[in-house]
Amino acid sequence: MRNIAVIGGGAAGIASAIVAARKGANVTIFEKADRIAKKILVTGNGRCNLTNADINPEFYNNPEYVKSIYERVEAKDVNGFLESVGLLLKADRDGRVYPVTEQASTVVNCFLNELKRLNVRIVTGREIKLNKNVNVINGETFDNVILSVGNVASTDAKYVNPLESLNVKATEVYPSLVPLKTDKTFLKGMNGIRVSARLKLFADSKEVYAEDGEILFRDYGLSGIAVFNASHYFNLNKNSKTYVSLDLFKDLTSEDLAAALIKRSERTPDTEQFFCGLVNKNSAQNISAYLKLGSLIEPSDVKNIVNVLKDMRFNIISTCAMNMAQVVCGGLKTDEFPNLKSKKYPSLYAAGEALDVNGLCGGYNLHWAWASGIYAGAQAVDDTY
Ligand SMILES: Cc1cc2nc3c(=O)[nH]c(=O)nc-3n(C[C@H](O)[C@H](O)[C@H](O)COP(=O)(O)OP(=O)(O)OC[C@H]3O[C@@H](n4cnc5c(N)ncnc54)[C@H](O)[C@@H]3O)c2cc1C
Repeated sequence: MRNIAVIGGGAAGIASAIVAARKGANVTIFEKADRIAKKILVTGNGRCNLTNADINPEFYNNPEYVKSIYERVEAKDVNGFLESVGLLLKADRDGRVYPVTEQASTVVNCFLNELKRLNVRIVTGREIKLNKNVNVINGETFDNVILSVGNVASTDAKYVNPLESLNVKATEVYPSLVPLKTDKTFLKGMNGIRVSARLKLFADSKEVYAEDGEILFRDYGLSGIAVFNASHYFNLNKNSKTYVSLDLFKDLTSEDLAAALIKRSERTPDTEQFFCGLVNKNSAQNISAYLKLGSLIEPSDVKNIVNVLKDMRFNIISTCAMNMAQVVCGGLKTDEFPNLKSKKYPSLYAAGEALDVNGLCGGYNLHWAWASGIYAGAQAVDDTY
């Protein structure tokens, strides 16, 4: 019987342990925390957005590499795996897939039951540091080892390459799926206010991302799911000059909005009244200050107002800190792990966020954790899937 060690009991480690044990291996999970699966509990605001109905490698930082795994472990295989532990799944209107219970604790409990059924040994409170003898952990020898230690997102910890001493390379890591710090031209008095808008991200004047969604204004910048996704593309365009543009009237053309505003200015030329019911009061003051509007709206002001309402620009200063991020951009270099197997250490595999793979919001990161975990677990037993 093959002896497999899994280092890290998160989504990827649990998936790999279950698949390896189902193939008849003796599996041990080593987890540094006092219990496994802690992070799963906080995903999707406690509802656990497990996967997505539209899985596409293009939604990741590293599409070619992700594709090479998703061609082997298809979306239907991941769904089948999740269902095989007892989960019933449902998708919302946007394709985000949740357990029907909408409780992340259900997901954890289903996995714990399955690990127990398969007699997977779980050793908690054990932080493992691999050395060049990668098969030997705490004096025990394993046939193969799966590294699924995750990364530092949502913590204050500094990233340390877990395989530094083994000369396996990692990239720098950055916070991703995280709010953005921007210039404050349109932010005064706006903290906590939400608008529905079309967000576009521009890098060196080229549009690199667009999404309709709810934007949450913060005193430091912008937040909300569309902004989190924009942070992913901000990281991919790190060396460019980037800004976010918000279209606050996405359902109207500029011409239609201008025609409506001309009429409005004729009826209520007083600047304060003109904006009343159009945008939030503090937003109106920010726009007025930016455009240096007088106390009355002139017909000649309307074009500039339309331009701001349909293209409100926020220059990006940086992302917020790692402790506000859902995932990291970066990690172990994927070319060190073709098909998730280490080039330098044939008995070492990697899965999940430990690798330099990250995706958009919507279940894509857990999907990567399940799919890579499933594949690594199967490979570690007998090189087949
Ligand atoms: C607030 C929040 C919400 C999220 N919501 C979603 C969502 O709804 N949908 C989605 O797809 N993604 C979501 N994500 C991202 C998703 O949770 C992660 O991408 C995913 O959990 C990564 O799984 P993993 O197994 O690779 O790593 P992790 O879940 O981080 O697991 C790694 C495990 O390894 C352990 N470990 C680390 N080092 C060692 C060591 N040396 N020895 C032993 N054990 C070690 C850790 O304690 C941890 O238990 C969210 C993330 C956050 C922070």
